[in-house]
Amino acid sequence: IVSEVKRLEKLRIVGDIAASISHEIRNPLTVTRGFLQFMKRNDITPDKRTQYIDFSLGELSRAEDIINDYLTFAKPTLENVMKLDVLEELKYVKNVVTPFALINNVEILFKNTAEVFVIGEKQKLHQCLINIVKNGVEAMPDGGILTIDLQMINKHAHIAIQDTGIGMNREQIERLGSPYYSTKDKGTGLGTMVVYSIVKAMNGKMNVASELNKGTTITLVFPVVV
Ligand code: ADP
Ligand code: MG
Repeated sequence: IVSEVKRLEKLRIVGDIAASISHEIRNPLTVTRGFLQFMKRNDITPDKRTQYIDFSLGELSRAEDIINDYLTFAKPTLENVMKLDVLEELKYVKNVVTPFALINNVEILFKNTAEVFVIGEKQKLHQCLINIVKNGVEAMPDGGILTIDLQMINKHAHIAIQDTGIGMNREQIERLGSPYYSTKDKGTGLGTMVVYSIVKAMNGKMNVASELNKGTTITLVFPVVV
C-alpha cells in the first residue's frame, strides 16, 4: 500500500508540474501572437516593428528553453531501453553542445575515457548530460574549460562533468533539482529536476561537489553492463 501511495503521489506531482509548464509555455505564445497582430498594422514605425520582432523572438526562445529543459520529465519511465556505449554518447553530447560552448568561450575537453556500457534510453541520457554540460558552460561567464571524465570504478560508470565557474554554496546545492529553482535571469529551473528524474530511472546516483568561485563537479554513477 505504501509504495502504491507513493507512486500516486509522484504521478500527482508530475501532473501538477505538467500543468504549470503548459501554462509557462502558453504565456510566451500569447505574447508573441499579440506582437504579430500589432505588426499587421501599417502605421507602425520601423523601430517599433524591430522591437516587436525582438520581443517575439525572445518569447519564442523562452518557450523553447522550457521545452528543451523539461521535455522528458512528464514521462519519467524509460521506454526504448538498450545497452549504451557511454563514451560514444558523451562524444555525441560534446558535439551537440560545442556551438553553444564556443559562443561562451568555453572549450570542452575529455580527461579520462573508458569503454563502459550502461542500460538506459539514449535520448534521455543525452538530455540529462546536455542539461549538466549547459549548466557548466553557463557557470563560466568569462569562458574557460569544461572537462568530461569517464572512468569505470567498481563495476560502475563514473561520469564527471567539471567546470571552473561561479560554483554554489550549501544552500544552492540543497535547492538544486527543485522545480523552478534558478538563479539565472532567463533560467527555467527545470534542467536539474529532469537530470535527477532520469538518473533515478537509470538506477544511478548524482553527486555534487561545488565551491563558490572555484567551480562545480557533477558526477553521475551508473551500474555497468557487460
Ligand atoms: P537553470 O539552468 O534554468 O537555472 P537548472 O535546473 O539547470 O535551471 O539549474 C538550477 C540552478 O542550479 C541554476 O540556476 C544555478 O543556480 C545552479 N547550478 C546548476 N548547475 C550549476 C553549475 N555547474 N555551477 C553553478 N551553479 C549551478
Ligand atoms: Mg540549466
